[in-house]
Amino acid sequence: EHTDQQFAFFNEQIKHIVKKRLHIKTAMKSALYNNEFLLKFQPIIQSKTKKVDSFEALIRWDSPVFGEIMPDEFIPAAEQNLNIIDIGYFVLEQACTFICRYHELNDRLVKIAINISGIQLLQHDFVDRVLSTVSQFMLNNSDIVLEITESLLLDSNNFAKEQITRLRDKGFSVSMDDFGTGYSSLNNFFTLPFTQLKIDRQVVNQSMMTTEARAYIAFLIQLCQNKDIEVVAEGIETQEMSDAMKAIGVNLLQGYLFSKPASAADALNICEYKF
Ligand code: C2E
Ligand code: CA
Ligand code: CA
Ligand code: CA
Repeated sequence: EHTDQQFAFFNEQIKHIVKKRLHIKTAMKSALYNNEFLLKFQPIIQSKTKKVDSFEALIRWDSPVFGEIMPDEFIPAAEQNLNIIDIGYFVLEQACTFICRYHELNDRLVKIAINISGIQLLQHDFVDRVLSTVSQFMLNNSDIVLEITESLLLDSNNFAKEQITRLRDKGFSVSMDDFGTGYSSLNNFFTLPFTQLKIDRQVVNQSMMTTEARAYIAFLIQLCQNKDIEVVAEGIETQEMSDAMKAIGVNLLQGYLFSKPASAADALNICEYKF
């Protein structure tokens, strides 16, 4: 039995969700010009040295109306209305700014991994614009890691594959994100010039429970070692997970155990992880 009060409460909640969705669609463009987007940075740790190898840039929308809006809530809408293209260039510029500030402060160049949407990759001027932005900041292309999800490659599309080859030829690192989810295609992976494989959090989680999943990761590592491809394990939340991944031979680790995605100000001070 629901009371009138409960109905009124559900009603308000539904109204809130509908309003938020509408706001996400209609206010996205102005939010970009009002500087409501920002990046957080999550370190990727070398399992042997415990030093920061790179940071992954993760976008947030700090809305004056709805507070922090997470990327899963607005990236799909941004892809639909193509705002992802401008948002993507904003992300790249902010990432380059971070590399420069990190260098000033720590006297060390750190790589930044940024997430690239399929829509961005399919823009004909994408490679040229990325090149000119990186050179404006006087950085090397090899300072940038472009994370591309597998799903994109499957439903496309030779042009996407050509773009990846172009980026690699220009010296960018290219990472296959979320590997192991959905339809893993080893063929896709090994016929393209990827420099890194990111094993999805769910696979890492499973490997803590089944020997099959552990064997699968060990197998991937062997394949990657032969081709000089880096392997990252995502979603490392516990010391046990960290130890297990290190024992199988994963060199790069990312997850809440080391750091949650941090503000630029905080991330500038992260150089190594103290066990
Ligand atoms: P992703 O690329 O797979 O990013 C990893 C997600 O896992 C991030 O969520 C991160 O905060 C979260 N994470 C990291 N470590 C842990 C952990 O130990 N445990 C758990 N449970 N989660 C962890 P976030 O920041 O909400 O981003 C979600 C997705 O949104 C990303 O998934 C990525 O696909 C997309 N995204 C984020 N930033 C951008 C961007 O600038 N451009 C585009 N196109 N997509 C982005
Ligand atoms: Ca990613
Ligand atoms: Ca991922
Ligand atoms: Ca993901």
